[in-house]
Amino acid sequence: MTAAGLPAGPGALRRHNLGLVLGALRGGPLSRAELAARTGLTRATVATLVEPLLDGGVLAEELAVPRGVGRPSRPLRFHERGPVALGVAIDVDALTVAGVDLGGRVVALERVEGDNRQLPAAAILARAGELAAQVRAALGRPVLGAGVAVPGLLGEPGSGAGSGTAAGSGTAGGIGAAGGIRRGGGVVLRAPNLPLLTGTRPGPVLAAALGVPVSVENEATLGALAHLGLAPDFVYLSAGIGLGGGVVIGGRVFRGARGLAGELGHVVIERDGPRCGCGGRGCVEQYAGRGALLRDAGLPDVDALRHALDLGERRATAAVRRAGSALGVAVASVVNLLDVPTIVLGGDYAELADVLGPALAGELRNRSLHPDPPRVIASDADGSAAVRGAARLVLEDALRAPDRLTAAP
Ligand SMILES: [Zn+2]
Repeated sequence: MTAAGLPAGPGALRRHNLGLVLGALRGGPLSRAELAARTGLTRATVATLVEPLLDGGVLAEELAVPRGVGRPSRPLRFHERGPVALGVAIDVDALTVAGVDLGGRVVALERVEGDNRQLPAAAILARAGELAAQVRAALGRPVLGAGVAVPGLLGEPGSGAGSGTAAGSGTAGGIGAAGGIRRGGGVVLRAPNLPLLTGTRPGPVLAAALGVPVSVENEATLGALAHLGLAPDFVYLSAGIGLGGGVVIGGRVFRGARGLAGELGHVVIERDGPRCGCGGRGCVEQYAGRGALLRDAGLPDVDALRHALDLGERRATAAVRRAGSALGVAVASVVNLLDVPTIVLGGDYAELADVLGPALAGELRNRSLHPDPPRVIASDADGSAAVRGAARLVLEDALRAPDRLTAAP
């Protein structure tokens, strides 16, 4: 970028302008004239930019819309056979793969349940690669790359941030990466709920299986990325077997200096509280995580808990309220520290939001320093936030390097 904020050189300028055009089309079909108006580019520039994308099968023209006078306009949209990004989520109890098109639409979603805790890392990664390859084959569309969500902390032991991108997508490091996401080193530093993944590098394994660039990120960070359009500043809570979080500040995901930011589950709410899997004591995960919630409610799983809430059962309701209140103590500290006005409940918490949300909000009202306490909203991602965010990681890269769009395998 030049001092004026414009990219230097004709190639960089063209990529920048292409990114503007493609970004505008993510909102829906637009005519060339509308594209020019939205992007501030001339109609001639828009025409020059879109021709190769039409030829390359990235964009398509809709049927002509008759207008009163002059030539009919033919809105442009993303081609229904155009390139997609794959998202892969490795969870404790499932593997999920999504295909997402350039417009952000989920065009494929496959989930295979199974306890991954018993499997060696090589087997988990092989299964994830197989499922992704199946989805890819079923889609039969060019694939730009894959993002992988793992339930662990990523980094490069002994150094700062490195590149978590395998097979050279050319986006190593750099704060300008997707939605403010700067890649971790791609090494799983710690995965408390899938310990056999610790020390592995999932990126190269999946890149070899799929033959496309692969980026790896923490699942809660990607869950936050999937919700980027909701608000400029928010904390996303990702509750499953573990309790993770993602922080978005100024429209960008905040990863921290070494990629470990957002570990809300290990915010301490009682100094000498129960031991936690992280080695500490009194972490909020021990009060509001899935294990604590189900134990407190005396129920085997989240479906049973949801059912009990629907029946108004007192023990279940009290357990969820207690968890919401404990969560509120931790989240209030985060809110007072970062001044984030919105809290997004994801994963299990989205399912329980009608009971958990008010308890959390009540605690925030009592503890938030700002006179307007944060609003608490439930995610509508229906449990697929991490896998959507993983695909979005790839799409954001594609919009920054749009020349690659017509070259996807
Ligand atoms: Zn902990």
